Amino acid sequence: MSKLGVLRGPRQVVFGAGQRHALGTLTAALGSRALVCTDPRFGATEEFAELVGLLERAGVAVTVFAEVLPDVPVHQVTRCAELARTAAPDVVIGMGGGSCLDLAKAAAVILTHGGEPADYYGESRVPGPVIPVVALPTTAGTGSEVTPVAVLTDPQRVSKVGISSPHLIPHTAVCDPELTVGCPPALTASAGADALSHGIEAFTAVRRPVTTELVTERVFVGKNELTDSFALMAVRLIAGSLQRAWSDPSDMGARESMMLGATAGGFALGTAGTAAAHAIQYPVGALTHTPHGIGVGVLLPYVMEFNRPVRVRELATVALAMGASAEASDEDLADQAIDRVAALLASVGIPATLADLVLPADRLRWTAEQAMGAARLIANNPRPLDVDALEQIVRAAYTGDRAALRETLPGSASPDLTTTAGTR
Ligand code: NAD
Repeated sequence: MSKLGVLRGPRQVVFGAGQRHALGTLTAALGSRALVCTDPRFGATEEFAELVGLLERAGVAVTVFAEVLPDVPVHQVTRCAELARTAAPDVVIGMGGGSCLDLAKAAAVILTHGGEPADYYGESRVPGPVIPVVALPTTAGTGSEVTPVAVLTDPQRVSKVGISSPHLIPHTAVCDPELTVGCPPALTASAGADALSHGIEAFTAVRRPVTTELVTERVFVGKNELTDSFALMAVRLIAGSLQRAWSDPSDMGARESMMLGATAGGFALGTAGTAAAHAIQYPVGALTHTPHGIGVGVLLPYVMEFNRPVRVRELATVALAMGASAEASDEDLADQAIDRVAALLASVGIPATLADLVLPADRLRWTAEQAMGAARLIANNPRPLDVDALEQIVRAAYTGDRAALRETLPGSASPDLTTTAGTR
């Protein structure tokens, strides 16, 4: 099999404690009128005022939109773009969690190309480059600072929607782990579970046949040589630091590893894509109003179990990245990977089942049907999925019966047209 490597990302990523202080000069190199998008929490902090001061001292005029709500209701994108239009920003800065970064990315699309966010839902519908975006994450989770997608909530749709295009990748990401120190344990856990799932879902994603069209036809191309190394970097760093960051929020070493791991996870997901855990989380989130990272974290071990028959070697590699001994067989290591992920998530308070999230028992089939609608994510899963298979995952995740997924299910053959297993 010939190898394929695809990686897309920002023009520059600056990582390190204190690096937020470079924001002024980094932004001044891109423009002189900045729209800053943040949420009411961060917008009220001294840290935020200091960053705005840095921008102004660097000669950048600042317009602030400090209203971003979690999960970004779509009307906020339109409102933000309308409020900012008279200031004619030539650079957009997102500061905050994934919601703030996603709003900044979507606002940059509207400010550049006009129209409504719905005009750009789906893949590759953004017609060209957008105003440069600078992203400063304050959670270690989504990886949005390096990804080509903005996730929004549209009341017209049951599940969340995405605008996906390489044009949405921020120009510059400034990843300063000091900004995450204020994350309370529950947020550290949900964001960390999200980041871990990015690494694992990207590393175990479908491997597509190598064609010269693949990279232009798809935003998310599936598992490949370049995203694999970022995915494993994410798994290794998060496995080694999530519990420490959760139990001691001021542990800077853990915060550094978490942020580096989350950004690495963003590189992996941003080009390879994610799969079933993310597809099922969308309807779960819509029904239970639980954070994205919690739902993905609950689902991850069950999805790994379902995918295990076609991803033994990859799961064994995940176990090694999490610290397992190489003495064991791949089959044994694959089991260890699932057990280790479940134990790590439990250790930071992620519930074990969808019943714990109070998913209504009579909506399990519905959840599977809605997940099927996330066609891009379903197609990115390494083991083929139909509604019945999704329902079995949902049922197992509801009752906590991972062993039920060991039974033969239809469609256990991998859709990969190649047979080479992942690097170990
Ligand atoms: P968030 O941005 O939704 O914020 C959640 C809450 O945490 C908010 O109240 C916020 O004020 C608070 N918060 C943020 N940083 C904090 C800090 N340092 N200290 C204390 N509180 C803080 O949370 P998130 O998990 O970062 O982002 C979730 C969103 O990102 C979802 O909409 C999800 O779908 C999306 N997402 C996007 C991508 C992508 O690539 N674009 C990937 C995964 C998820």
